[in-house]
Amino acid sequence: MAESKLNVILLRYTPNPEEMVAQAARLCYSPASVDDLTKQVKTKDMAGFIEKLTDMRHLSPVEHVTFTFGIEGISRACSHQIVRHRLASYSQQSQRYVGQQSKKSGGFHFIVPPSIEKIGGKQWFVEKMETIQKWYDELVEMLGNKGESAFEDARFVLPNAAETKIIITMNARELLHFFRVRCCNRAQWEIRDMATEMLRLAKQVSPHIFKDAGPGCVNDKCPEGKMTCGKITEVREKFKNLR
Ligand SMILES: Cc1cc2nc3c(=O)[nH]c(=O)nc-3n(C[C@H](O)[C@H](O)[C@H](O)COP(=O)(O)OP(=O)(O)OC[C@H]3O[C@@H](n4cnc5c(N)ncnc54)[C@H](O)[C@@H]3O)c2cc1C
Repeated sequence: MAESKLNVILLRYTPNPEEMVAQAARLCYSPASVDDLTKQVKTKDMAGFIEKLTDMRHLSPVEHVTFTFGIEGISRACSHQIVRHRLASYSQQSQRYVGQQSKKSGGFHFIVPPSIEKIGGKQWFVEKMETIQKWYDELVEMLGNKGESAFEDARFVLPNAAETKIIITMNARELLHFFRVRCCNRAQWEIRDMATEMLRLAKQVSPHIFKDAGPGCVNDKCPEGKMTCGKITEVREKFKNLR
């Protein structure tokens, strides 16, 4: 068993995503054929055009491009929050079929919250994970040690801290929404760190689509009202400079 750290990889995305969005948008306002539109879209028009679309909230063209991320080193507590987002596709490592949680196969990996490290509680936390590992291994034995039929119920003692891996595909419109709610300081730290890294990677390949992406306060007043973190200037600066 070992501690895991966040790793986000942008695995795939629609080729030339901004050209695709510009083509779809041009189609809405032009009598030209699809073939002619493809020739008309010029890289130099894209920035202004995409900006105009997002300002108008004309977002259907943005739905034509998708991004697929491979994510590891997150807790089950985090993945539970991710999969609440319904306009996405997910494939998550199974605790039923992957027997890596057993001590003889290396044991389960886990995430240590930074707050626990900060108070000097890491050793305490790791000891508790070791205890859980014992419970898990005992249960696998008690359940007959028969692969998935033992793993499927032995996993009931695994903690929210247990590491998971997930592949996520979202279109850019859903990503803009996801970043709005999950990059916010009011979101939980782990999903916030993950969403921020996803945004950093997406911005590298689609700088215009994601130019103003980030929590709601990046472009508007804070949507959290009385619950605001009160750090709007700092947050705007962080997302403006995210590379
Ligand atoms: C800071 C924070 C705290 C949270 N705390 C809790 C909590 O304590 N308990 C809890 O249960 N959940 C909690 N959630 C999860 C939240 O309630 C939503 O389940 C989650 O944000 C995903 O839903 P979504 O509206 O963001 O939209 P997504 O599922 O990402 O869909 C995107 C958009 O599509 C539209 N849409 C999608 N599905 C429908 C539908 N069926 N009907 C109408 N419109 C739809 C909506 O406009 C939606 O905003 C929290 C989320 C955040 C960001």
